[in-house]
Amino acid sequence: MRHAAFIELLNQTKQLASEQRKRLVEDLTVPGAVSAEPSAELIPAPAGCPHCGAAGDRLVSWGQSHGLRHYRCRDCGRTFNALTGRALAHLRKREQWPSFPPPVQPTR
Ligand SMILES: [Zn+2]
Repeated sequence: MRHAAFIELLNQTKQLASEQRKRLVEDLTVPGAVSAEPSAELIPAPAGCPHCGAAGDRLVSWGQSHGLRHYRCRDCGRTFNALTGRALAHLRKREQWPSFPPPVQPTR
């Protein structure tokens, strides 16, 4: 499809009724496709600080970075994400993780 024709098609979708829009999304969704980012269940919130071992109630939410929620420890002041200190911390291609079983929580 030519670029100009594609832009015209995109503009036409703005005129669709909500039911037509919903149907279009259903038709364009590939069955069995996985989302680009691992789900929240795949990366559970940390049980405590990976740096000083403080309990989970000492952690505060500290925004997001690289698609992962960040936390800050009230005891040591360091920031981290749910993968810090775990085997998955520096792995790339997160979009391919959902095809693998969930990681095991480290025991303390
Ligand atoms: Zn800490």
